[in-house]
Amino acid sequence: MSETGARDDDHAALMAERKMRFLFALRSHGVTDPRVLTAMERVDRGLFVKGIFAERAYEDMPLPIACGQTISQPSVVGLMTQALRIGQRDTVLEIGTGSGYQAAVLAQLARRVYTVDRWRRLVREAGEVFHRLGLANVTAMTADGSFGLPDQAPFDRILVTAAAEDPPGPLLQQLKPGGIMVLPVGQSDHVQKLIRVTRGEQGLEYEELRPVRFVPLVEGLGNE
Ligand code: SAH
Repeated sequence: MSETGARDDDHAALMAERKMRFLFALRSHGVTDPRVLTAMERVDRGLFVKGIFAERAYEDMPLPIACGQTISQPSVVGLMTQALRIGQRDTVLEIGTGSGYQAAVLAQLARRVYTVDRWRRLVREAGEVFHRLGLANVTAMTADGSFGLPDQAPFDRILVTAAAEDPPGPLLQQLKPGGIMVLPVGQSDHVQKLIRVTRGEQGLEYEELRPVRFVPLVEGLGNE
């Protein structure tokens, strides 16, 4: 075998091993829905992490991204996606685009995904990755997500990936009957609770899922 061929084989073996460990970490943290696992297997997290941290993209940990924000831990992305119970025909709103990784995972499962962030730069960079991946069903926009996206509302599913003290009223209003919203609530510098809100026939139902830690939902747009 040529030297280049051997190097390619080594690289392929390394990538396969990383993927196996990545999926194992997801399963061992309770991500068991096969559709969610397949979606996460398809989206290369390495494309959403830049610079010195890129090498750690396949580890189950949050990592720093631009604008002082973080890309969430893969197992948390998996558990939140699983908790949303997305159907193939659903329109999903994500608040907190960040790197765009979570939105790209949602886009594997839903018909249409809207994702918003208060930092223009993050929205632009995430949009570039969606384009590279040929993800035509995700739209990233700059907006203060506390107000939702009234023009595209209502939504079947809403995912908030930044912590608010309480579920923002406009988001609850933009949830369809039968709709589900998953979000972390609690004080920003503490451990928060991940909750699931369902708009049922009797009104809103709240379930507490697990403790999580997210950056806070901040008012207004960023300056970058
Ligand atoms: N889902 C992201 C990680 C989110 S980090 C990923 O997959 O990488 C939380 C994001 O929420 C940050 O990018 C932050 O800028 C954004 N954010 C905080 N407050 C916001 C608000 N009011 N409106 C929109 N985005 C907000």
